[in-house]
Amino acid sequence: MKRWFRTLVITIFALAAVSLIVIQFIQTRRTFSISDNMFNVSVNNAMDEVVHQMSGEVFQTAAHPATAFNYQDLDSLIVEELLLNGIDLHPVVGIYDGSQGSFLYTSDSRREESLERSPYRYNFSPIGVVSSGQYFIILAFPETELFLQSNTKVYIYMTIFLLVVIATMFFISLRTLAAQRKLDQMKTEFINNMTHEIKTPISTIGLACEMLRDDSVSQDAATRSNFLGIIADENQRMRVLVETILQSAKMSNKNFSINPKKVDINTLVSTVLQSFRLTLSNRGGTIETHLDADPSVLDADELHLTNMVYNLVDNAIKYSVDAPRIEVGTLCKEGHIILTVRDHGIGIAKENQKRVFEKFYRVSTGNVHNVKGFGIGLNYVSQVVRLHHGHIALESELGEGSTFTVSLPMV
Ligand code: ADP
Repeated sequence: MKRWFRTLVITIFALAAVSLIVIQFIQTRRTFSISDNMFNVSVNNAMDEVVHQMSGEVFQTAAHPATAFNYQDLDSLIVEELLLNGIDLHPVVGIYDGSQGSFLYTSDSRREESLERSPYRYNFSPIGVVSSGQYFIILAFPETELFLQSNTKVYIYMTIFLLVVIATMFFISLRTLAAQRKLDQMKTEFINNMTHEIKTPISTIGLACEMLRDDSVSQDAATRSNFLGIIADENQRMRVLVETILQSAKMSNKNFSINPKKVDINTLVSTVLQSFRLTLSNRGGTIETHLDADPSVLDADELHLTNMVYNLVDNAIKYSVDAPRIEVGTLCKEGHIILTVRDHGIGIAKENQKRVFEKFYRVSTGNVHNVKGFGIGLNYVSQVVRLHHGHIALESELGEGSTFTVSLPMV
């Protein structure tokens, strides 16, 4: 997916999500206000009926409402009428005498203040009342908010739920897009690096073959052996390269297993180091060996162990500036064979030391080094160690060099 297209998709998605949030917000407020209006209409309808009934036969006899009314009957009449209009609430009821500016009756004296502030006031003039006072029935609903909320609660919860779902999907899509982009980048880098790494030994082998075809060169036994050595080394490099890529893919499979047999680690290390002879002499480097493991035999998969040592030594050379100085050693300790590969190369910064064992991870090079690679060598090495129930450790100092220590159980 092109970068501009991806940006466009993300922008449209973000705009749509924001619009949806705004619409939902407006809609929710509208629902609140509709519920509010409906509530008012229902209360007014109920109270019309109450006022009508209060002005009827029952209340006509007395001279003053304070003595005329049976307030309990009034309360139950109000509750009944409210219920008939769909409101299942018990309001605070007050009878207010406007001419005196005081309440003749309140169903809850502690709520007088809310009654005074209440918009639900209904003027009534019972027939037969001599007093010219203005009488009001006032209702207060301390639980109105709760009542309205319970009506709109489901709607609000649904809205919030849908918004959370949309936002989650949006972020998942963004992450998937980012991951896809990274994967694309890694794929391109991998193909570029592989082409480079395979092209180099192929052209070196081609060149060596050309030289061997030349009669004047092939007559000399030492030169001939030198070129044959180059071919063998480069062939080994390609073999390990291909093997590392293939085996690393296979190792991801849970059912992958190794083929252990008796392997002499000192002999194995010496054989691997042989194939770096020419590379080292070309770069004026040296390898110091301390193959002190005794006994040196362990149960291991020879092929994977060979590739493991090859990868570690290859890195030690690759990531050394100028002439590489490498030290390789083996020793026995507490039932384990310890293999160390030390270099005095560019080293690895603390923050990258854990990550170098991740698949495809390469320390971002900057100006530090310009070495080609796939970022799977150390991951493969750590997988081999794991399959042998061993342990790998890295000690490194930026600019000073690195030491990889592999410890493998002898039985
Ligand atoms: P690569 O093919 O890039 O060498 P590896 O998995 O072998 O992949 O190594 C991962 C990264 O770890 C390398 O890109 C490099 O930055 C760092 N690294 C590995 N070995 C060494 C070393 N001996 N010295 C310095 N850096 C190293």
